[in-house]
Amino acid sequence: MLIVKKFGGSSVADKERIFNVANRCIEDYKAGHKVVVVLSAMGKTTDGLLAKAADINPRASKRELDMLLTTGEQVSVALMAMAMGALGVPAVSLNAFQVRMHTTSAYGNSRLLRIDTGRIRDELENNKIVIVTGFQGINKRDDYTTLGRGGSDTTAVALAAALHADACEIYTDVDGVYTADPRVVPNAKKLKEITYDEMLEFASLGAKVLHNRSVEMAKRYGVPLVVRSSLNRNEGTIVKENADMEGMLVSGVAADRNTARISVMGVRDEPGIAFKVFKCLAKKEISVDIILQSIGREGTKDISFTVARTDMQEAVAALKAEMDAWGATEVTYDDTVAKVSIVGAGMESNAGVAAKMFEALYSANINIRMIGTAEIRITVLIDEADVKNAMRAVHNAFGLDS
Ligand code: ADP
Ligand code: ASP
Ligand code: MG
Repeated sequence: MLIVKKFGGSSVADKERIFNVANRCIEDYKAGHKVVVVLSAMGKTTDGLLAKAADINPRASKRELDMLLTTGEQVSVALMAMAMGALGVPAVSLNAFQVRMHTTSAYGNSRLLRIDTGRIRDELENNKIVIVTGFQGINKRDDYTTLGRGGSDTTAVALAAALHADACEIYTDVDGVYTADPRVVPNAKKLKEITYDEMLEFASLGAKVLHNRSVEMAKRYGVPLVVRSSLNRNEGTIVKENADMEGMLVSGVAADRNTARISVMGVRDEPGIAFKVFKCLAKKEISVDIILQSIGREGTKDISFTVARTDMQEAVAALKAEMDAWGATEVTYDDTVAKVSIVGAGMESNAGVAAKMFEALYSANINIRMIGTAEIRITVLIDEADVKNAMRAVHNAFGLDS
């Protein structure tokens, strides 16, 4: 078998953990499998590098940030190869340039386009464990790029697809995908299985246990994933096309604090205004999530929506620059909000799911500011301070508590 194993930052945070990972990979190698390992930067290295950059230049270019961030993963792979060497197993570390992992040109948030597999295959043929840097790629100028925070998961899935691997295992600091972040909802339950579609919504709505693009890619190429802990041997969670959800209406609750609300007040109530407002944001490549349009006064209306909190300042500046043309009186914003969502394929065919969620929030005395729905999810925007209570209340209302 060819197995791709990915270990996150906490799994390689120190010497002991590096040897723990090395040993787990060597087990598979000694069982006769070909092993490709994808690593993240050690512990909180990426955060540390970002802080260093911000200290030198808070407006540093995205290109230089990527040049800096890619060093984190290089440290992990080199040390891992050394650890395996110390354990007497031949291993080689490779970065994105050496493998040639081609991405789009955008720095900081690029997408993988193609991975050359020649070098990896050669090394595997030479009976080596191949250790590859997660999170990074190269663009057409041969500059380093990164795939967005948490992107090592995507590197692993992309490699598994490109190499037609038999298994893709994501090792992290929890032993699977839970019905909610177990750090926030202590009685969350581990799911045995979850569908790609649900996991994709879940990841996109804040369950950072998997990078959302990794799930997108796993679905596209039919790569079954297993999420497990690097620190114990517990059975993990399998992410696949069809899963047995044991008749669950809702499979989980997620929260996302990287959100902000913006309102464009008093725009003219006429055709084309919404188009112009959102076009203004699209030009800046700012994505919008929940949208709410409300009737204003005397032929005007207000348009509110959420954007990633990290995009808020840029969005507000862009809107203010054009607002006079729409007759807008004001652009207001609030970055003390958060999204709480429920996800579940079961809700598609069941009435009353939204009512149940809102009732739970009402019982916890939590005010809903905006609501967004899609086929298998419902999202509410609430005050950030209410997130924990909201998650626990909703989790409990759907009987997800263990
Ligand atoms: P890694 O460094 O291994 O990639 P991450 O920190 O990116 O790990 O992801 C693992 C974390 O995801 C867990 O520690 C947990 O707090 C968080 N998490 C959020 N939602 C969930 C969930 N539904 N199930 C499991 N973990 C979750
Ligand atoms: N090291 C990167 C990050 O912290 C990538 C990853 O961990 O997946 O975001
Ligand atoms: Mg991660």
